[in-house]
Amino acid sequence: MKEKGLKVSFDFNEIFEVQNLTSSIKRILKINDKKLISFNELNLRPNFGSQLSDKGYLFDGINNYPILEVKKIKGEIFCEISDDKFHSKVGEILVIKQDYTRRKNISKMHSAIHLLCSLNKDEMIRGYAGDKKSKVEFKGSFKNFERNFPEIKNSFYHYIENDNIIKKYYLNLEDAKKLRNLKEFSEKQEGLIRIIEIQNFDPRVCLGTHVKSTKCLNDIKILEPKKIDENSYKLNLELKNY
Ligand SMILES: [Zn+2]
Repeated sequence: MKEKGLKVSFDFNEIFEVQNLTSSIKRILKINDKKLISFNELNLRPNFGSQLSDKGYLFDGINNYPILEVKKIKGEIFCEISDDKFHSKVGEILVIKQDYTRRKNISKMHSAIHLLCSLNKDEMIRGYAGDKKSKVEFKGSFKNFERNFPEIKNSFYHYIENDNIIKKYYLNLEDAKKLRNLKEFSEKQEGLIRIIEIQNFDPRVCLGTHVKSTKCLNDIKILEPKKIDENSYKLNLELKNY
């Protein structure tokens, strides 16, 4: 599905189930000792908001070339690889192998951040979803939060032990504005707005990748909160046994 009218618009399919994709090369840019390759179809995501970009390999039938980074340049998405032995030309067909475990873990971490933000009444300042570790910073008194933390932690673990559906739907701007966290969206937005909602509560505008149920998050743990200053603090999440 195309993502239209959102802060960052993506122009590739959201088929994360696809791990390997066969696609022809659209463009090749050479920058220093690196090559940037764009494709007519792509199953990878660039860095987006709190989520890391996908990685994986490009396979030309003989060699696997590790994708160092997925970048978006002037609306076009490129896979960055080292220039060493790569000699494929525009129009040639390669296999794009997605590191699906990494993607799944990033989706998990990102979904866990949603849940955490829903359970904590303090406002999130920023979040970072890695494939093994994540952190979220909140604006608010650390002292107050310390008091609420045990309850938030219990609710978090309660949610991830149970099968609460994380659903995705689209609203027009007018309806989307009725949701509470739409202040960042301006009149310039057009088309449909993508909403993510955990078990019918706390709808949020989001373009990230998510798991289908809170049960998928059951190998994530919350570490002890850390004070940043009088008015902010952070929470770290970690995959168990990574
Ligand atoms: Zn999200």
